[in-house]
Amino acid sequence: MDNSSKYIVLDRDGVINVDLFDYVRDPKEFEFEHKSVQAIKKLSDKNVKIVVLTNQACVSQKTATEEMINNVHDHMKNELKKIGAEIELILFCPHANEDNCECRKPKTGLLEKAEAKLGISLKDCFFIGDKESDLLAAKKHGCRPVLVLTGYGMHTIRTAESLMGVKIYENLFEAIENNF
Ligand SMILES: [Mg+2]
Ligand SMILES: [Zn+2]
Repeated sequence: MDNSSKYIVLDRDGVINVDLFDYVRDPKEFEFEHKSVQAIKKLSDKNVKIVVLTNQACVSQKTATEEMINNVHDHMKNELKKIGAEIELILFCPHANEDNCECRKPKTGLLEKAEAKLGISLKDCFFIGDKESDLLAAKKHGCRPVLVLTGYGMHTIRTAESLMGVKIYENLFEAIENNF
């Protein structure tokens, strides 16, 4: 499939929005990372479609509902739409580690679900995240792993088992500027 270059996978917390080191449960708590809006706008302008895949264990832990997560996502999409930037698909894993699901990153279930929903392949696409679980899911699935140093990124760079083949950038904006 040759449409893979037209898609990009983004983690959410610590990449698009500021990671609160807690969950974002309300649009009021949602704050875009430095220049992430411009980065997403640039992707939209270049016709690169964005798939956001995010772990939200707060649902399983009952500190947030799926509706709360969806409200946050509606807010994010609306803010982006104001400047003509678009997100194609957002999928979240509502499970916690102990649920042993197939979708919580580093597992690749969210990637497979997105592919099925869109009828595309995400292999060879860039997958930008701030945690090792993002990089592992990317590698396992055959995406191109990119680490940003926002969110948990500085922690990840110190603790990740391997950063071989991982491109590293200051933030989402720099990652997009240098690859698109
Ligand atoms: Mg993250
Ligand atoms: Zn899951």
